[in-house]
Amino acid sequence: MKFSLLFCSSILLLSLFILPQIVLSRPVKQPFKSFLQHLEGCHKGQTVKGLYQLKQYLQKFGYLSYPQSNKSLAAHANDDEFDDLLEAALKTYQLNYNLKVTGAIDLQTVKQLMVPRCGVSDIINGTSSMRSGKRGHHHGSNTLHTISHYSFFTNMPKWPASKSHLKYYFHSSAQISAVQDLQSVCSKALSRWAQVSHFTFEEVAEGTSDADIVIGFHRGDHGDGYPFDGQGSTLAHAFSPTDGRFHYDADENWSTNPSQNMMDLESVAVHEIGHLPGLGHSSVQDAIMYAYISSGVEKRDLHSDDIAGIQYLYGSS
Ligand code: ZN
Ligand code: CA
Ligand code: ZN
Repeated sequence: MKFSLLFCSSILLLSLFILPQIVLSRPVKQPFKSFLQHLEGCHKGQTVKGLYQLKQYLQKFGYLSYPQSNKSLAAHANDDEFDDLLEAALKTYQLNYNLKVTGAIDLQTVKQLMVPRCGVSDIINGTSSMRSGKRGHHHGSNTLHTISHYSFFTNMPKWPASKSHLKYYFHSSAQISAVQDLQSVCSKALSRWAQVSHFTFEEVAEGTSDADIVIGFHRGDHGDGYPFDGQGSTLAHAFSPTDGRFHYDADENWSTNPSQNMMDLESVAVHEIGHLPGLGHSSVQDAIMYAYISSGVEKRDLHSDDIAGIQYLYGSS
């Protein structure tokens, strides 16, 4: 009798400890965020479960590539080893985003990686005109002149001089409730760029054959080779001149007046429209062409860095 009482009470006591843990260990909503937190403090030489996800992220945005011609190196593209290439990639990433260049996964780097961002690569074909690609960037005292931080796509593609009037229409393969706000949001975003360049924009009927720009919502793998990733991480992407495609990830929480966990449709439109004439990402945090934007944030005004970038390409309006 005494034994069973002891047994019952110890079961009760045990369950008090175990239950909350079961409740707390429910699957986390954003797996990318949770694996990153788990990696904080990692550095070269370690093997840590989940590192392959960071490798995939850095490969996606152009920081890391394992030469397929070298079999022993190529094998590391998807493993959990913190190798030399990963360290070098992190250093470039940290330089581009004005973080302390440690080559390790420190807290500031984890925080940066967790913020949602544009799907366009920072580095294309191994070259970047972001901060890491600019000459003289780490010579501190030698560079007295101001360094601009806007960037372009490789080989600086642009629209021909004869193409200053660009026609656009909307076409989505995924339907979401924010679709009805898209026209006014994009017209406002386009006009911001029109004000500082020689471009004019005109909305035309869906499917117009000579249209230059197509804007819409898409979900997951939508056929252009750059699949979206569900809620979080990648928000949207747009293509370099003269492609003209601008896609929103339909799986985000879009809003025209975002609360804490919603993304601002217009802020992201102003950014993506900047890619269409040929701007790449900027290292200037306040610039529209900075790749990252947090939820709940409205960032819709062009920065002097954005204006300098487009005027470098096309001259002032
Ligand atoms: Zn972008
Ligand atoms: Ca996403
Ligand atoms: Zn797309």
